[in-house]
Amino acid sequence: MEIKPWLADFSQTKQPFIIAGPCSAESPEQLLTIAREVQALGINTMRAGVWKPRTRPNSFEGNGTIAFEWIDEVKKSTAIRFATEVATADHVEQALKAGIDILWIGARTTVNPFTVQEIADALRGVQIPVLVKNPINPELALWIGALERIYKAGIEKVGAIHRGFSSYQKSRYRNQPYWQIPLSLKSQFPDLPLIADPSHIAGTRSLIQEVSQKAMDLGYDGLMIETHPDPDHALSDAQQQITPASLGQLLSVLRISKPSSSNALFVNKLEGLREKIDNLDQELIDTLATRMKLVEQIGEYKKENNVTVFQLERWQEIIQTRPEWAGKQQLAIDFITELFKTIHDESIRIQTEIVNKETPTKS
Ligand code: PEP
Ligand code: MN
Repeated sequence: MEIKPWLADFSQTKQPFIIAGPCSAESPEQLLTIAREVQALGINTMRAGVWKPRTRPNSFEGNGTIAFEWIDEVKKSTAIRFATEVATADHVEQALKAGIDILWIGARTTVNPFTVQEIADALRGVQIPVLVKNPINPELALWIGALERIYKAGIEKVGAIHRGFSSYQKSRYRNQPYWQIPLSLKSQFPDLPLIADPSHIAGTRSLIQEVSQKAMDLGYDGLMIETHPDPDHALSDAQQQITPASLGQLLSVLRISKPSSSNALFVNKLEGLREKIDNLDQELIDTLATRMKLVEQIGEYKKENNVTVFQLERWQEIIQTRPEWAGKQQLAIDFITELFKTIHDESIRIQTEIVNKETPTKS
């Protein structure tokens, strides 16, 4: 994909690009109320789900095509543009016929290459921005694959929405952000617009500000935030929607930093600090190399004495003492625990290789 920057021209508003609006289009009044209020905040793009992919049947599955008539009414009296989710070729056709301005592909659709291809084929010959949400599983290649299918169909204005990833483990988020995945995407495709969806990452109102700020600190191009006039009574995703007034408050305190600064003093100081980090990283690598040499010696020794590579007591001691030492240096316990799990895994791998190596026999 060779993506040319397109979002700044398209968005018609100052950066970041904000898409606000309800999880689902529920009624003409709901849409018009939000439209007027978000427009007053200087936002010109709304989201509204027309068809809702629900985890289980018998929950509200969207109002379907009648919602396009409501959207049309809003467009007549405001300057708002609309984005909606499409999950089949038929959805694409209906949304295009209804004059929808932006399409997005949902997380449950991105996982399925057949469906994404069907959507891509339905988009051939059309020029409309298409935003692809990350797949529900943390797999970067699947996300890139979906973007490529859309791009190959001739859509030049493609973008990515980061909505977090499902996880079996309980966490404070509804969907784990795994920030390194969207950041890898951004480093492979620097001009691909990257929009965060703090609502679906957070799953709860109280975390939306924090997630939005993190996205801004990481240099995201925009935010998609679920906004509803009466969030508690929303027909879908009630816990994570916020009022337009709360959205205004959130945006007013959002710190937006620039990707870089040409200020000579800043550049100088940054370079100096980075040089120190480079030196320390070199030392870290030298230390790790020395550690692994010792690990090899232990491996040989265990082999000679025919004892197992994995020694439970030793591992328990490591995983207890290292975080204790780290705590004294004000380092995050979780970070050090993870780091030593990785180091221990590598030590085990090295020793297993040694133990299983054929000892050369004289013939
Ligand atoms: C949505 O945007 O309301 C939605 C269903 O999101 P996702 O595809 O991220 O679950
Ligand atoms: Mn939703």
